[in-house]
Amino acid sequence: MHTHDVDQELVDAATEVARTRCQGDRHTMAAAARAADGRIVTGVNAYHFTGGPCAELVVVGSAAAQGAHDLKTIVAVGDRGVVPPCGRCRQALLDYFPALQIVVATPTASAPSPSATFSRTPTSGPTTSSMRRHRP
Ligand SMILES: [Zn+2]
Repeated sequence: MHTHDVDQELVDAATEVARTRCQGDRHTMAAAARAADGRIVTGVNAYHFTGGPCAELVVVGSAAAQGAHDLKTIVAVGDRGVVPPCGRCRQALLDYFPALQIVVATPTASAPSPSATFSRTPTSGPTTSSMRRHRP
């Protein structure tokens, strides 16, 4: 595992989208990705019990729709700060972008003091519980 300087602008972008756009049960997480050309693409999850896409995957599709086919860094933010990708997203993200950096919160610190890490192995990680609705 390597740590890198955190793309704070990216974290801030996701945080802002989470704060201002995720106000219901359908959209509970935001994600932001830094494309190779420098632009930031954001998205929110589309919660559904059938398995609606997480914010990270929405960002991948949204970025492609905007012609950004190479993503360098991604971060997801919920109402409790930076959230690591679930297993499904981790697999998809690494298949799409093998060199992608994923911003995760440091284990000891409460958000926001994330460190960027890169992991190729989709080990047992956080479950999709973090993608479920956070509000009653
Ligand atoms: Zn996910």
